[in-house]
Amino acid sequence: MKNVAVIGAGTMGNGICHVFATYGFNVNLIDVSEDALQRALATIGKNMDRQVEKGKLSAADKDASIARIKTYTQLEEGVKGTDLVVEAATENMTIKLEIFRKLDAACDPATILASNTSSISITKIASVTKRPTQVIGMHFMNPVPVMKLVEVIRGYSTSDEVTANIMALSRQIEKSPVEVNDYPGFVANRILMPMINEAILTLHEGVAGVEEIDTVMKLGMAHPMGPLQLADFIGLDVCLAILKVLQDGFGNPKYAPCPLLVNMVTAGKLGAKSGAGFYEYEKGSKELKVAAQFRK
Ligand code: NAD
Repeated sequence: MKNVAVIGAGTMGNGICHVFATYGFNVNLIDVSEDALQRALATIGKNMDRQVEKGKLSAADKDASIARIKTYTQLEEGVKGTDLVVEAATENMTIKLEIFRKLDAACDPATILASNTSSISITKIASVTKRPTQVIGMHFMNPVPVMKLVEVIRGYSTSDEVTANIMALSRQIEKSPVEVNDYPGFVANRILMPMINEAILTLHEGVAGVEEIDTVMKLGMAHPMGPLQLADFIGLDVCLAILKVLQDGFGNPKYAPCPLLVNMVTAGKLGAKSGAGFYEYEKGSKELKVAAQFRK
């Protein structure tokens, strides 16, 4: 594989584009928003500069990597001649199904179609295409240039050959792929989200405060970040949406989102991106301050 298209130039799309470009792939970055494409190019440039400062990338390799990236607002134009498409658009079923219908019609028959979805069924995405054996999940973690894991998700019909190709490709870009089957939450979120939900329930029931809960998990379990801080970082709306996928997918009440999480999302407290969640976030400040509602 040499030519890759990435759909969606947001947080994940720009990271995926960054990684493929630095490993020598030609990358066509596609977004409906020209602004998003320009922001992504600026972010990629800044993040590569940081790698140059740290001696992880030479200045010449940075320039060559940037030169391998082309941007498009028209999907059909951007996917021409690509061996692989990695979709990282907004986490919305309608949007993703529409993108995969278009991809199936526009891409060469041999092109592999991957999705970076956190929670939408790969089997469902594959069902709107005429190539379900060539549809697969490639679930990168945020921030993509730093995090080693790629959860490779086999849909119900994904072929052994396509799975082997994507496992090998992930190793080629120096990630550590793990093969999993397509069930709600895959593996990462099936385990992570109930832990976050339990941390929120522990807070809600008054067992301990925000800092205490996060400290227990950081110092006791050697987690680099406590579950409440991690929930703020992921976005509380995203956590809630994934818990609902688990609850609906398994029909098991153990996945029911904590009412406190539901209330916070309803009140617009979405975590770091909204300025407050379990902690408060001020632009330019690295200090971690418990949000006013949770201070003792
Ligand atoms: P984001 O909101 O930062 O970016 C999404 C981008 O998709 C936007 O730039 C938007 O303009 C674009 N887009 C929307 N509809 C489009 C379309 N029809 N065609 C092309 N582009 C379109 O989102 P994100 O956080 O980067 O998430 C992207 C995907 O990655 C989601 O499926 C999400 O579940 C998954 N994911 C996110 C994280 C994370 O930590 N943010 C981690 C793993 C996986």
